[in-house]
Amino acid sequence: MILSIVAYGHPVLRKVAEDITKDYPGLEKLIADMWETMYESNGVGLAAPQINRSIRLFVIDTAQMFENMDDDEKADYADNPGTRQVFINAQIVSLDGEEWAYNEGCLSIPKIREDVNRTREVTLKYLDEQFEQQEKTFNGITARVILHEYDHIEGKLFIDHISLLKRKLMKGKLNDISKGKIRVDYKMMFPQ
Ligand SMILES: [Zn+2]
Repeated sequence: MILSIVAYGHPVLRKVAEDITKDYPGLEKLIADMWETMYESNGVGLAAPQINRSIRLFVIDTAQMFENMDDDEKADYADNPGTRQVFINAQIVSLDGEEWAYNEGCLSIPKIREDVNRTREVTLKYLDEQFEQQEKTFNGITARVILHEYDHIEGKLFIDHISLLKRKLMKGKLNDISKGKIRVDYKMMFPQ
């Protein structure tokens, strides 16, 4: 089932999300719906707060980003061929490597893109779909997408990382998004 994506301005995007247990109601269906919703909106990641659930759950698929690259382009990325994964109750263990800029966007903030600096590597502790404890290190684009989604479960957004001046300049656009004055080709839920 395709779910509505919560738009900028909705309070759920600003809450620190809660851990869940294995018996969280309808978890398997929820994860399936999140995959479907993410692919339908051409996203590479989706966090539960974006579908109005304040829980520590997100999914990413960076493998699809590598599908259209030629071998030379792929060689630029240490995380080639990317990963498709569910993260439950994730916590960052460490951030490593240099910061690098990448032009990010967000399904909750359509039509705004900005360069964001993040570290090249992240090590995370999390549970997979089977609720098995994992600790893994990710890098490159995959680390980038994970850190963007991790921000969501911490109540943060990518625009929090940009300069105050740039944020001031986009205030009108952000207001339009929160009022539903935006045209997108996926289902959205706007704050009242
Ligand atoms: Zn986002």
